[in-house]
Amino acid sequence: MPVRVGIPRYLGYFSFYPLWKTFFEELGLEVITSPPTNQEILNEGVAEAVNDACIPIKLYHGHVAAIKDKVDMLFVPRFVKVRKLETETFCPKFLGLPDLLQASINNLPELLDTRVELTSGRFELFRIAREIGERFGASLAKITKAYLSACWDLRRYWGLMCKGILPYDAIECMEKGYQANRQKEQGALSIAVLGYPYLVYDEFINMDLVKKLNSLGAKVFTAEMISPGRLLREAKNMPKQMFWYYSNRAMHAAYYYLKKKRVDGIIHVTAFACGPDAMLDRLMEMESKEWGRMPFLTLSIDEETGTGGVDTRLEAFIDMLKRRRV
Ligand code: SF4
Repeated sequence: MPVRVGIPRYLGYFSFYPLWKTFFEELGLEVITSPPTNQEILNEGVAEAVNDACIPIKLYHGHVAAIKDKVDMLFVPRFVKVRKLETETFCPKFLGLPDLLQASINNLPELLDTRVELTSGRFELFRIAREIGERFGASLAKITKAYLSACWDLRRYWGLMCKGILPYDAIECMEKGYQANRQKEQGALSIAVLGYPYLVYDEFINMDLVKKLNSLGAKVFTAEMISPGRLLREAKNMPKQMFWYYSNRAMHAAYYYLKKKRVDGIIHVTAFACGPDAMLDRLMEMESKEWGRMPFLTLSIDEETGTGGVDTRLEAFIDMLKRRRV
């Protein structure tokens, strides 16, 4: 029976899942993911995680709890750096994620807590792949093949998102060979929905934000719909980068949409109790005013956020954008 590796469907999942899945499967392992976020996962996460954790960290705990008894090993990479932007790293909760889990959840399977610090680019990624592959007794040839296939699938995944396909649809289309569904072009309005991918794309915690906006007649644009190279070029708009990878990405995407003037408004989806987001939100709002008085809405999410309040705010924002166009 192949070794079963668990991948929680949260945090880095939305950015890197096809890379990990293909790599492990090519090594001959079985990949098991937690189900999409649901109320049970949220309740479990709230119960397991420390009280003052942000909602994404609580949800990650819930996803781990949902699969920990079904796998031999859990893949919880310790993200430190994934691009060559000086001073950029991940938020401290990401850096300490394996330790947080071990301190909070009982009876965890073995954690594969590979340190991901890509200071020297692709070479470093291959070194990490080799380290993991050797742990499972794979030959260098097998590791190299798995690594190349995984990189290819990650590029395909990112390419699909650049075409406007949302992550779940892109993953499904890659796994099942479907033609991916683009958002319908029904909307007269275009809105940039920016923030951490685990808030923008998790339909449970953001209460189906993208579909709601679509149903209100708006087409949604996100950071992942901009190519990684283009996004990085937007970094030059900031005299000083923030320290956190996902915060920088969201801000770089905001500059892209502000400069191109391709959207009618920006919605920043933010997590209540997130330190980095407090700074990011203020900066994004100020820059939105500065660059052409772009309408801006902050949508703060926590475990108590109700659908009613979100619906009302979205409807009011869309109404205002429509009136502005008349
Ligand atoms: S960046 Fe913010 S929301 Fe994300 S894990 Fe860190 S504290 Fe939580």
